[in-house]
Amino acid sequence: MVSLKDLGNRIKEDGVEYIYAMFVEMHGKPCAKLVPVSSLDDLMANGAGFAGFAAGPMGQTPADPDILAIPDPDSYMVLPWQPNVAAMQCDPTVEGDEWPYAPRIILKRALAAAYDQGLVLKVGVEAEYSLVAKNEDGTIRVADERDDSAMPCYDARGLTRMLDHLTTVSKHMDALGWGNYANDHEDANGQFEQNFQYADALITADRLIILRLMMHTLAERQGIYATFMPKPFSDKTGNGLHTHLSLWTADGDEPLFHDEDDPRGLGLSTMAYQFTAGLVEHAAGLVGILCPTVNSYKRMGVGPPDSGATWAPAYAAYGGNNRTQMIRVPEGGRIEVRAMDGAANPYLSFAAQLGCGLAGIAAGLDPGDPNTDNLYEMPEAELAARGIKAMPPTLLHAMENLVTDDVLRTCMGTTPHGDYIDYFAEVKRREFHQWHDIVSQAEVDQYLTLF
Ligand SMILES: [Mg+2]
Repeated sequence: MVSLKDLGNRIKEDGVEYIYAMFVEMHGKPCAKLVPVSSLDDLMANGAGFAGFAAGPMGQTPADPDILAIPDPDSYMVLPWQPNVAAMQCDPTVEGDEWPYAPRIILKRALAAAYDQGLVLKVGVEAEYSLVAKNEDGTIRVADERDDSAMPCYDARGLTRMLDHLTTVSKHMDALGWGNYANDHEDANGQFEQNFQYADALITADRLIILRLMMHTLAERQGIYATFMPKPFSDKTGNGLHTHLSLWTADGDEPLFHDEDDPRGLGLSTMAYQFTAGLVEHAAGLVGILCPTVNSYKRMGVGPPDSGATWAPAYAAYGGNNRTQMIRVPEGGRIEVRAMDGAANPYLSFAAQLGCGLAGIAAGLDPGDPNTDNLYEMPEAELAARGIKAMPPTLLHAMENLVTDDVLRTCMGTTPHGDYIDYFAEVKRREFHQWHDIVSQAEVDQYLTLF
């Protein structure tokens, strides 16, 4: 833990003049107060005040007392694109107590429970995003007008046209100490991915919030939009947030998911298989947290976009190096959950995955042998015979699954007004109905004269 004195010295050395005191609400919206460094002592002692109801879904009404967000000095980062400003992620409190509706608090509590069992979760994420421009009528188009080929993935020309943007992000990642190691054009026109090293779950979650803020800021400076929206275009591959998970020992930082003698040949330990089985077992409800918008369910499924594959899981299953599975094992020592999408709140998503995985370990579950088939092509009868379940088709289905899953209910915690997942589901059901209640042009086109 960074001491207040060290923090003050670092701020001086870095030439920082202002601090963003930040937290995110349920949707992952980055909320901040800009605090001059002259008020640092007060900020660290008393926190930054917010009206929680105005921020977003934070379990508050306009009648409730302020949220006081206390900065975590370990999360201090100078923002390289505006270097006189640093950010600190905060732990929201209300009347002196940690606020159990705050996603960062929910993750910290889940991590503390794992730590008590001698376990530490490490996470790496692949944050896919699209660079788009807005048309005058409010619709969107790919920002790079030349990026229109049917198979744009890995195209060096698409990469080259966005070189200024991509290298700027890469340099910022390195200045932040994240270790950028690859950048590529992804499967959809206008879609990119820039990778950085895995770390402890809380660190990766904090970084992802800053990464999104950086992308929005850099895109705005070019007059375009960066979006992590799961499916910005009906005919193009959506934005996933593939998540690489591994457990380590709390006392010695020893990896626990690796086993060279794995009889299944994937290089995974028994614990890793149990964790995997927990994720598969609870997938139908877990997806509600990993894929938390109406739009998320337009990314998943079997039906391919123009490039040929969605690259998103349609079924709850695991396999080796096979991208049609919800869980892929690219190499020994870790698993990749491919369900999570760009709309996911990383704090809530990591907490939920940890809870399901630990439940799998506690129950000694076995996920069976890895699936080697292309699940995008498997007939329904064969899927049924093997007991492979489809992902929920909509956000509303996912919420029904979520509220009936006792493992997820427990791991997301309780609030003064009930379990957090009931609140989450209430907000998300409302979101579903707000969308569903609007008569779309597609309905008018299909039904106007059909009957
Ligand atoms: Mg990708």
